[in-house]
Amino acid sequence: MSEVKTAAEYFGCNVFSDKVMRDRLPKNIYKSVMRTKQFGTALEDDVANVVANAMKDWAVEKGATHYTHWFQPMTGITAEKHDAFLTPVDEGNVILEFSGKELVKGEPDASSFPSGGLRATFEARGYTAWDPTSNAFVKDDTLCIPTAFCSYTGEILDKKTPLLRSMEVVNEQTLRMLRLFGNTAATRVTTTVGPEQEYFLIDKKYYDLRKDLMLTGRTLFGAMAPKGQELEDHYFGNIKQRVSDFMKELDCELWKLGIYAKTEHNEVAPGQHELAPVFTTSNISADHNQLTMELMKKIARKHGLVCLLHEKPFAGVNGSGKHNNWSISSNDGQNLLDPGDTPMKNLQFITFLCAFIKAVDEYAPLLRISAASAGNDHRLGANEAPPAVISIFLGDELQNILDSIETGTSVKGNNADSIFEIGVDALPNFPKDSTDRNRTSPLAFTGNKFEFRMLGSADSISCTNVIMNTSFAQVICEFADELESAVAKGDDFKKTLKALLKRTITNHKRVIFNGNGYSDEWLAEAEKRGLPNYVSTVDALPHYTDDKYVAMFEKFKVYTRTEIASRMEILLENYSKVLNIEANTMLYMAKKQIAPAALEYTKFACDAVISKKNAGLDSTLEEKIANKLSMLTSSLYNAIETLDADRIASKDHTETAETLARYYRDVVFADMQNLRAVADELEMNIPESHWPIPTYIDLLFTV
Ligand code: ADP
Ligand code: MG
Repeated sequence: MSEVKTAAEYFGCNVFSDKVMRDRLPKNIYKSVMRTKQFGTALEDDVANVVANAMKDWAVEKGATHYTHWFQPMTGITAEKHDAFLTPVDEGNVILEFSGKELVKGEPDASSFPSGGLRATFEARGYTAWDPTSNAFVKDDTLCIPTAFCSYTGEILDKKTPLLRSMEVVNEQTLRMLRLFGNTAATRVTTTVGPEQEYFLIDKKYYDLRKDLMLTGRTLFGAMAPKGQELEDHYFGNIKQRVSDFMKELDCELWKLGIYAKTEHNEVAPGQHELAPVFTTSNISADHNQLTMELMKKIARKHGLVCLLHEKPFAGVNGSGKHNNWSISSNDGQNLLDPGDTPMKNLQFITFLCAFIKAVDEYAPLLRISAASAGNDHRLGANEAPPAVISIFLGDELQNILDSIETGTSVKGNNADSIFEIGVDALPNFPKDSTDRNRTSPLAFTGNKFEFRMLGSADSISCTNVIMNTSFAQVICEFADELESAVAKGDDFKKTLKALLKRTITNHKRVIFNGNGYSDEWLAEAEKRGLPNYVSTVDALPHYTDDKYVAMFEKFKVYTRTEIASRMEILLENYSKVLNIEANTMLYMAKKQIAPAALEYTKFACDAVISKKNAGLDSTLEEKIANKLSMLTSSLYNAIETLDADRIASKDHTETAETLARYYRDVVFADMQNLRAVADELEMNIPESHWPIPTYIDLLFTV
């Protein structure tokens, strides 16, 4: 390194940011791009050409030789197809070219991306379109242009387009509401997200010896290490040198991409860590989270480590999640979920709060679906992550206020005879505790935002935010319809609103729960309250196409019924595929690694029996060991045969994506658990020297 730069100097240096554009574009062009960014207006051809050229020059200076439209297909990760800037001219000369057309639209061969039946392969044409609201950046000598991905018939094939649409819907509906509150200053409302990301780091030399980690991202076998997380000595503990070097490099690379990673700390499980970024606009946050996951994996390798983003890499210790911190702000500088300090601001705050509560109650199954995956099934409801029942934690202070609004009685803890009057009184101060006040709740109000904690660590945050945004907008729309028509009739705004809020609280308070979400009592109580509890992915996903949800998405043109159906199909198919790969990998390891080791060591024990006998010694102990090994090995073979047969029989359950997924869940998954139990028991009975794969001690305690 020739010169040491400070973080402030290199932050965002690989991003074609607003500042770069201001410096490099003619004024009128710059203004035109900013208009497009802010209001989604189309970019004129000549403007696009100038922007493309400036972008190319900037990227080439950064060492880029290629460009790619960077998009987020339904695989859940990002995709890129690199094209060189080089354009041949006469006599073997080349020039570097990049036109407005190439910037604005791309045509990747889309045939191999999952489309859930939307796009037959023979008409495999899809196109990508620039999302000017998310800045282009340089990564690996390539100019990456964030884009949306659609089919030529207009169906969306990616995770970005619906997110952008849902943000637009929130903007429209929330502005209506702000106008009702007399706000004429705000012209744009944006949702914001800060996703906290958990991950594991393990030593690459052990990873390379585990086919399960390589092929499925999780350990399919492995007896629990003698030590787990019970001492909680890893949580916020000292960060080891190798990990700290990794984190430093990760931060640096993220900062260069304009991603402000703020805190990094050790998590509860050994080998587990967390990264929290500073929040930003939802779609940018979704892009940034994808880049963060990608860089985590890449940079870990440079340090001889492997980053595991699977939701449950190890049985017996905590898995990894992602916390989606959601809020909403307007361009006159308000966070709309921040309790204000004037009565009118507070009335507005309570209104948005109640709208959110209603949205969650009405559309809870959709939120559950947004966290549904084969990997996350291992966590939800397993005493480490929130249960599969959606509920909201508000905290006592806010709860008391809602109670008081609903019942017209005094706020608990306040002056005994004061009744809290929204719109008249100031809200009592309540602590804006930013720590996880209730870790057991899937959704917690944390002072000026809601934290959704159900997501799996490998999930894209897009689906969750599409659902939060659209359902919130749906309720705000209902509220605004009612209030606007009351005001038009000459009714009093505040009076109408108060009645509306009171009614909303009464009808939807069932979704609020401030107690321990991990307890069995809560599950019983939730059932009494009629809250849905979709325990597994297979139980949750089929509700995606329930009429009520389709109606909402279609009303706001976020998805069509066909698009939702295709998404459901893709997710169900993915579930079956994941389980099939896991089953195959288990069979491979069981047959080719574990069973041979078991047979070999059984033979070793039998030989010991014989030599003892030959020497005229008592061989009771050796016989006992040989017997146990022999029994376990035959159980192993039985479990292998059952799994093998049931896996093959999956071909008889392919009527629909759902029947197949259900079969995998009910039959194949149960077989896998049986096989694992026997293998793990064998592991405990075979010496380290004879065990063919790295153990949990190697994996969890050696970094
Ligand atoms: P803690 O780390 O204790 O949970 P923080 O205040 O650091 O609390 O917030 C955690 C996450 O919430 C961070 O990623 C942060 O950027 C994000 N966050 C904070 N404010 C907002 C907001 N208004 N909108 C979206 N996310 C937010
Ligand atoms: Mg958190």
